[in-house]
Amino acid sequence: MKPYNYHMPTEVIFAVGSFDRLGEQITRFGKRPFIVTGKHSARATGLLDRALAQSPEAVVFDAVEENPGPEICETGAAQCREARCDCIIALGGGSPIDAAKAIAILAANGGTCENYFGRDLYRTPALPIVAVPTTSGTGSEVTPYSVLVDQALGSKRTIAGADLFPRVALLDPKVTTTMPREVTVATGLDALSQGMEAYLSIKADPVSDVLALDACARIVRWLPLAADEPENLDARTEMLHAATVAGMAIAQTGTTLVHGMGYYLTVEHGITHGIANALLLSPIFRYNAEHAPDRILRLASAMGENGDRGPGATIARAVHLMLAKLKVSPAARDHGVPETRLAEFARHIGSDPYRLKNQIGKPTAEEIQAFYEEAWAGR
Ligand code: NAP
Repeated sequence: MKPYNYHMPTEVIFAVGSFDRLGEQITRFGKRPFIVTGKHSARATGLLDRALAQSPEAVVFDAVEENPGPEICETGAAQCREARCDCIIALGGGSPIDAAKAIAILAANGGTCENYFGRDLYRTPALPIVAVPTTSGTGSEVTPYSVLVDQALGSKRTIAGADLFPRVALLDPKVTTTMPREVTVATGLDALSQGMEAYLSIKADPVSDVLALDACARIVRWLPLAADEPENLDARTEMLHAATVAGMAIAQTGTTLVHGMGYYLTVEHGITHGIANALLLSPIFRYNAEHAPDRILRLASAMGENGDRGPGATIARAVHLMLAKLKVSPAARDHGVPETRLAEFARHIGSDPYRLKNQIGKPTAEEIQAFYEEAWAGR
C-alpha cells in the first residue's frame, strides 16, 4: 500500500438544525466575530439575522461576490482589524468561505493577498474560522485553500496553509434548501468533479480514495433529486455530506487538470465554477482512462456504470448521463465559449506547470487543446 499522511484538523458537526448551535460554537474561539458572507442570499434567507441573534456582538461584512478577488478580502481584513474582531464566521458558499480564509490571514498578519499566495507564507496564526456552508459544492469548509481571482493575471490563485482549515465546519442540510436549481446543479457538479479528480490525482491515497468514491456514488444518486425537489431534506443531506467528503479528499490530493482548465472558462467567460469543471470531465477522464484504466473502472462502477464499453467510453457515459439528467448541455459552445479562444487557453495552461502538478500522464499542449475542443463540442 502507498504510504500516506492524512491531516484534516477541522471538527465537523453534521446535523439537521445544527445552525442553531452557531452561537455556542463561536464562543469557543472568541468574543467578537466577524461574519463574512455574500451580498444577498444570507440576508434574503434569514440566515444572517439568525446568526446575529445567536451572536449579537458580531460585525457583518456582506460584500463578497462570486469568485472573490484579493481586493474584497483586503477591504474585509481592514474592517475586521478596525472592529477588533477576534474570530470569523464564514457564512455562504465557497466564495464567502474562501474570502473569509484570506481575511483571517490578512487580519492577523497585515499586508496584501500578494504576500500570501503559495503555501504557509504567514507568520501569525490566522483568526479562527467557523464555516457554515450554504451550498453543497466546494468543500471549502474542510480544505486548507482560499482560491481567489486575480483579474490582472486573468486566472485564479491560491493561498494555502494549515491554518486555513476552519476550526469547525457546521453542516446543516436545512440551510441548503434555499439554493435555486441552477446553484444546486452547478455546485453539485463541482463536488462531483472534486470527487472524480481526487480519485485520479497522483496524490490519491487509501483514505482519499474511500472519501472520493463515496462522494461520487452519493452525488450521482442524489443530485438530480436535490435539483428537482429543493425541499427534499434527504437529498440535501446526502449532497451536503458528499460535498464535504469530496472536500476532505481534495484537501489531501489537490485538484487536477479539470480545475486547472476550468478556471479559464470561469474567469474569461463567466461560466459558473461547477459547470466549467463538468464540461471538461468527459475529455479529461477519457485521457485518464488511458493511464489508469483499472481506477477508472472502479470510479465508473461507483457512479453506477458496468464498464461494458471499456474504461474511457464508460466514464464518459457516466458523465454524459449525469449532465443529461440535470439538463446541462455538455458542450462549452452552448455556454457561450467562442472556439477562437481555445488555443490561447491551452497555451497558458501548457506554460504553467502548477496546473498540471496533480495530473496523471503528461498531457502535451496539443492534447490540452484537444480537451478544450472536445469540451467545446460536447464530446
Ligand atoms: P458561491 O459563489 O459561493 O455562490 C453561488 C451563488 O449561490 C451566489 O449567488 C450565492 O449568493 C448563492 N447562494 C449560496 N448559498 C445559497 C443558498 N443556500 N440559498 C440561495 N442562494 C445561495 O458558489 P460556490 O460554488 O459554493 O463557490 C464557488 C467558489 O468556491 C469559487 O470562487 C471557487 O474558486 C471556490 N472553490 C474553493 C475551493 C476550496 O477548497 N477553497 C474548492 C473549490 C472551489 P450570495 O453571493 O448572495 O451569497
